[in-house]
Amino acid sequence: MIVDLRSDTVTKPTPAMLQAMMQAEVGDDVFGEDPTVNNLEAKCAALLGMDAAVYCPSGTMTNQIGIKILTQPYNEVICYKGAHIYKYEGGGLAGNSLVSVRLLEGDRGRISVKEIEPNINNTNDAHLPVTSVVALENTVVREAGSYYTLDQVKAISAFARAHGLKMHLDGARLFNALAETGDQAVEYGKYFDSISICLSKGLGAPVGSVLVCKKELEPKARRMRKAFGGGMRQAGFLAAAGIYALDNHITRLKEDHARAKTLGKELSKLPWVKSVMPVDTNIVIFSVADSTTPEKVLAQLDGRQVKAIRFGPQEIRLVTHLDFDDRMLDKAIQVFKRISA
Ligand SMILES: *Cc1c(COP(=O)(O)O)cnc(C)c1O
Repeated sequence: MIVDLRSDTVTKPTPAMLQAMMQAEVGDDVFGEDPTVNNLEAKCAALLGMDAAVYCPSGTMTNQIGIKILTQPYNEVICYKGAHIYKYEGGGLAGNSLVSVRLLEGDRGRISVKEIEPNINNTNDAHLPVTSVVALENTVVREAGSYYTLDQVKAISAFARAHGLKMHLDGARLFNALAETGDQAVEYGKYFDSISICLSKGLGAPVGSVLVCKKELEPKARRMRKAFGGGMRQAGFLAAAGIYALDNHITRLKEDHARAKTLGKELSKLPWVKSVMPVDTNIVIFSVADSTTPEKVLAQLDGRQVKAIRFGPQEIRLVTHLDFDDRMLDKAIQVFKRISA
């Protein structure tokens, strides 16, 4: 039995999801004729309380389109310094949107009005790029899945809008955040201009993300999806997996969180583990003792069929997901106990 904790993207479709995919009604989505894609888009827009949505191949693409449609070249985007849009999208913001970024420290990745305020540039000073977007990430992948509450989001959104700024949400794992806060997804649409959600992370679809946005932004989003090469044809086979995931895999996310918390607790007892970041959702990030290195630990784990990834100079990351069950949890804990450092 291989226990793969590298990412929540490693899941494979369940038999029931595959069944839904095989039975999907499809058409050419570039012509807007794929009924299953259209259903998925309508479903996502309604779910998040917005009026438009665009299905895309990846979360990187939905984020890149989101920023592209909210900015002009030479603008500046404010975000957390470890934000996925900045750190893990291949320099896309610079290449695709020709924008600079203003990076904030954040409190475990969560930025606040207090931090944003002094970082908004004076538009009358030609030296300074025009600040145009505040981008949040919920949950924050770089900070072990920490999350914002809706109240925190509301405060930032009200402040940003009062300053003429647009709001983008990288909600790759938004449903993980909602599982903890109990906030309603439908409320989120009020506070953002664009929201990216991933169907292929905790929700367990094989492919796909959705950019949910304001109606007036939809034509531009569709144009950019085409320009970025993301216009797909009979994509309904994939979209069906997304619909299935939204209908069946949101309510189980708490299970992933419980297993992640158990992993974090067990790790914190081990001599080769220096510290474990607080585990808020489905991501566990820990540092290994100075006497060892992530590579050495990962090699021992790999030899016992437990897979994880390095996530910093002394850090290792584990992510729980749909294909990680209690039997695997037990095995992972047993293997951790046998690691020598
Ligand atoms: C995974 C992820 C994305 C998108 O990733 P893709 O692999 O391009 O789908 C975006 N933001 C965050 C925070 C992520 O974890």
